[in-house]
Amino acid sequence: MISKSMTRDKILEYYEQVLKKRQQKFTQNDDADKLIKQEPVAFLFAVILDQGAQAERIWEIPYHLKNIMGHLDVYRIATLEEEEICQIVEQLPSKPRYWKIAARRIKNAANHIIKRYQGQAENIWNDNPKAGDLQARFDNFDGVGQKKASRATRILGMDLNVPIRNWSETDVSVDEMIQRVFPRAGLSTTNNPQEIIECTRQLSPSFPGALDYPCWDIGRTWCKPQDPNCGECYISEACPKVGV
Ligand code: SF4
Repeated sequence: MISKSMTRDKILEYYEQVLKKRQQKFTQNDDADKLIKQEPVAFLFAVILDQGAQAERIWEIPYHLKNIMGHLDVYRIATLEEEEICQIVEQLPSKPRYWKIAARRIKNAANHIIKRYQGQAENIWNDNPKAGDLQARFDNFDGVGQKKASRATRILGMDLNVPIRNWSETDVSVDEMIQRVFPRAGLSTTNNPQEIIECTRQLSPSFPGALDYPCWDIGRTWCKPQDPNCGECYISEACPKVGV
């Protein structure tokens, strides 16, 4: 009989033994990855624009924006008309799906960073914030909701080593991958987002968000919508494979 705690432990083991040891890759482009890690505003723009297309392509956008504009200076971006940003976005090799909305969000983000964070994106997270407070700060940007805010917080703390307190305040960011893995792995009875969030709070109360990345990766790698590859899946021995 496989218990939920066995499944949870295997998922967390997957993070510790495999994912944590992988070099953090956001894109297929090393220069774009370097920019995400080195320029906080590039990280923020990627979080804001991450929607409606393959994540690896979206996270390259700040790199291409910088190449086209010659900078990612929020003061200069804030002076641009939305139409001018639209023209820049149109030149991107990988465009966001809703590129007119993307242009507005880039301008709004620049203004918000100037108004609330003294023009420095790193001021969003460089005061050793509580995880819940940091999620709320991300949530205040146009284009960021609970899902993106919790994922951005998790990436900063776990992958980019930004000091963050009170991890118990984080939740999983429920997307289609998580909604697939949770019921199949017997961790939730349905794919209802609220039920999944409640399950993670019970299963991993000190850090509910810890289940986010490994479950997302399991969903992407093995637990596909059709024909899940249970034979190769890292958590196979601890997964009840409900409905599979
Ligand atoms: S691929 Fe199979 S073993 Fe892996 S999580 Fe999905 S149902 Fe479980």
